[in-house]
Amino acid sequence: ITIGVARERAQGERRVAVTPETCRKLVAAGARVQLERGSGDGAYFADADYAAAGAQLVDDSTAALDGADIVLCVQAPALSQFDTLRTGAVLVGILQPEADPERGEAIRARGLHAFPLERLPRTTRAQSMDVLSSQAGMAGYKAVLIGAQLAPRFFPMLTTAAGTIRPSKVLVIGAGVAGLQAIATARRLGAQVEGFDVRPETREQIESLGARFLDLGVSAAGEGGYARALTDEERAEQQRRLAEHLRGIDVVVCTAAVPGRPAPKIITDAMVAGMKPGSVIVDLAAETGGNCAATRPGHTHDVSGVTVAGPLDLASLGAQHASEMYARNVLNFVQLLLADGGLAFDWNDELLARTVWPGVPAGVDAAPA
Ligand code: NAD
Repeated sequence: ITIGVARERAQGERRVAVTPETCRKLVAAGARVQLERGSGDGAYFADADYAAAGAQLVDDSTAALDGADIVLCVQAPALSQFDTLRTGAVLVGILQPEADPERGEAIRARGLHAFPLERLPRTTRAQSMDVLSSQAGMAGYKAVLIGAQLAPRFFPMLTTAAGTIRPSKVLVIGAGVAGLQAIATARRLGAQVEGFDVRPETREQIESLGARFLDLGVSAAGEGGYARALTDEERAEQQRRLAEHLRGIDVVVCTAAVPGRPAPKIITDAMVAGMKPGSVIVDLAAETGGNCAATRPGHTHDVSGVTVAGPLDLASLGAQHASEMYARNVLNFVQLLLADGGLAFDWNDELLARTVWPGVPAGVDAAPA
């Protein structure tokens, strides 16, 4: 089996899909790993360490992908690179095939077995492969650090010779994987933290991190452990209560998302206008449009004294640990495809059947959805 890894080329992407640690394991499993020189640079993994782990270093992406049975990536390869992939090759990464029709078409045209890892079911067995969770953890952590950096205040309470400093009040909107890590991080920095989510089960998770659950009187549990979109009445009620509450908050971290939809707009311009000068909003949902109406994805700007940050590529800010986790997720997934030194597709395995895009190849029996 030949595994190909080309340097990530997307703007701002610093992560890498294979680390020296996972390279060693792939080689031990009998794979030949062809890796483009410099693939690990953005995450500070040196070529020499890949070589020591048994990788074959090659000079360009064409040589890395040429003849590869499995191509591992963080973001989908550039369209021009698809020509290098052999028909029937396996492609594993955060591929988002529906985000770009040409990419979807390239996957079909080359007859690739594409496994967009963002499609993995969120089951217990899939946890060790769950890239959405591992990368959201880094994003939530970094979002809070950005908020702490931008705030003109301390997070913790301090008792000093120059008097007492009151702790900052942090509100985390959305308590999924990123939100819970944001809450934990803000707590570690000593802030007074509140969290809220439309899924009622998050109350206990928020409280177990030592934060307060902010009850806005709206509950919207959807299917498969995710949230559903709110009705107009629910949204109005949530917004009325939230507007009032935001007046007392110093830093807001937004993480709310509904799968397959643009980020819900939760903080309106009027709410931002009602916040204290010096307060900060960090909108981790910027990548899908943002939870705050004032968010400009990729920018930080001032809105009448309120700093609104819409950082993109948060996981890349922690590229080293994010890559370590991502690469282990990928390794665990690839192990599902390897049998007796070759490639094997067990379409009765729901993790393969539900992840492969656009679906299980025609003519094979698949696991029931
Ligand atoms: P996500 O990124 O899709 O959404 C983030 C959060 O935003 C969610 O908690 C959601 O409820 C919340 N949200 C949506 N609309 C909102 C609104 N209008 N106001 C406030 N909050 C809103 O979610 P995620 O972090 O990927 O995780 C979603 C769920 O999947 C969680 O229950 C998580 O625990 C679960 N999960 C399970 C597993 C597993 O068992 N293997 C793995 C990962 C995640």
